[in-house]
Amino acid sequence: MEHPFPRPKVLVSRCLGFAACRYDGQQLHSRIVAQLLNHVDFIDVCPEIEAGLGVPRPPIRLCLQDNKIEVWQPAESRCVTNALQKAAVFLAQDITNLDGAILKTKSPSCALQDAKIYNGTDKPQFLQRGSGIFGTLILEGLGHKAVEDEQRLTNRSLREHFLIKLFAWTRFRTIAVTPRMADLVDYHARHKLLFLAYNQKRFRLCGKIVANHERLPAKEVFHQYEQELGQILLKPFLSKAMINTLYHALGWVSEDLSSREKHFIINAIEEYRDERVSLQVVTRLIEAQAIRFNHEYLLGQVLLQPFPAQLSDLSDSGRGRELL
Ligand code: SF4
Repeated sequence: MEHPFPRPKVLVSRCLGFAACRYDGQQLHSRIVAQLLNHVDFIDVCPEIEAGLGVPRPPIRLCLQDNKIEVWQPAESRCVTNALQKAAVFLAQDITNLDGAILKTKSPSCALQDAKIYNGTDKPQFLQRGSGIFGTLILEGLGHKAVEDEQRLTNRSLREHFLIKLFAWTRFRTIAVTPRMADLVDYHARHKLLFLAYNQKRFRLCGKIVANHERLPAKEVFHQYEQELGQILLKPFLSKAMINTLYHALGWVSEDLSSREKHFIINAIEEYRDERVSLQVVTRLIEAQAIRFNHEYLLGQVLLQPFPAQLSDLSDSGRGRELL
């Protein structure tokens, strides 16, 4: 059963399939960006073009100089910090209404965490890795939403977490436009099984916010809920917690199943525990039973389809696993 999905608004590094704007005049292909084209509204930006550095251009690098990060263009022996900073601030000015971002890894402008930083501009030595000039602003303003670099999204678990987070934030944004308590109650209820797998404690705090015993204005309640939502979705769910949730979901239909049917699904959950099948295999089995028995509560749960099925992709580079 297909659920309607709102279209997320996602900021993306322009070189990831939108224009040949890299320093060497190339553009790159990102599988996840290509897959998302039919499902999200991308806002593509290139901070280095915005800074007037042109294409092609001599590469730039981040250097720590007098305790400050400077952007140095060695071939031109010039500092372009101000131009890039100004461009980055301009491009990041309207990001609060976005649901996420996919940025280019390792770029001195766009990287979120792995741009090379050198010690000084003269005979520079590699010092450490850190965020690029634009990446820093995106983390500051949008870091609680679905923000990742394209390379980490080649890891299956990180990609699944990114997509769950992206669509959860998009659903929240669509109801937050006109804050109504009934919409928030419904949002909270429909995300119950999913959020229980993410963070039970925070989910219960959200429950208290939604109960609104202080009778606060809806706008204030939405604001409080948004803060907690960021905490719920901060880290990927643990598979142990997801397995408990899957058993919980199965509990809603298990009385109507024959023992053979029940054991078939239990086996699938255990196969998921052993990493032999994907989460979607199990949720699809449970969803099939929910459809069979017309189980409205389960069919309304986001857990069964947290993002469009067409975005399910089992490919896995294994990269970024250590960062989970
Ligand atoms: S990494 Fe960022 S600054 Fe560099 S070409 Fe891509 S979009 Fe432009």
